[in-house]
Amino acid sequence: MDLATWAQVLGLPGVEVVAVERSADGKTWLLSVIQTCCVALCPGCKEATGCRHLVRWAMIQDLFISGREVLLKVQVIQFQCERCGKFFSVCPACVLEDRHVTVRLAEALTDCVNASTLRTASATYHLPESTVKEIFEEIIERRCAEKARTLKPIAKLGIDEIHVEVHATAEEPAATVQPVATPTAAPAEAGEKSG
Ligand SMILES: [Zn+2]
Repeated sequence: MDLATWAQVLGLPGVEVVAVERSADGKTWLLSVIQTCCVALCPGCKEATGCRHLVRWAMIQDLFISGREVLLKVQVIQFQCERCGKFFSVCPACVLEDRHVTVRLAEALTDCVNASTLRTASATYHLPESTVKEIFEEIIERRCAEKARTLKPIAKLGIDEIHVEVHATAEEPAATVQPVATPTAAPAEAGEKSG
């Protein structure tokens, strides 16, 4: 399989596969990946910079491919801002660098814990229970933050609400008309009166 095909199989945004090896025991794929973006925003002054100071590599565990473990050797770039001189590192967004796993592995692991136990997730993804617990807590925190962000109170009316408002205003004169009894309610009332 060529590197472009590997990149497609991997399907991670923002990275490109530059080398593929298989471990001596044949159980693990080792994929070296580099970042496709070559500029970054300085977290200090927000200026864009392409000035690389140094590059290091981080070992990141990803989801299995065809029953084999996948280890990504991920390029982490340290930039230096040309305006304010600040140094800062950039890791691909698909990676939880501090936990040494991809975000999608962390998500799958969290779902696994939710559906079963820490021990099962630990055995399934070949990670220590303490690591699984840390990843689980971080992903739950992220999900709660995301939910809070998307569930903001309504600040203005959407098109449906405007339609209801306009409709209600237009029908106001008709509000004096007596409500028509529903077919199911009428026989019940009649029955009560006769009884
Ligand atoms: Zn800066």
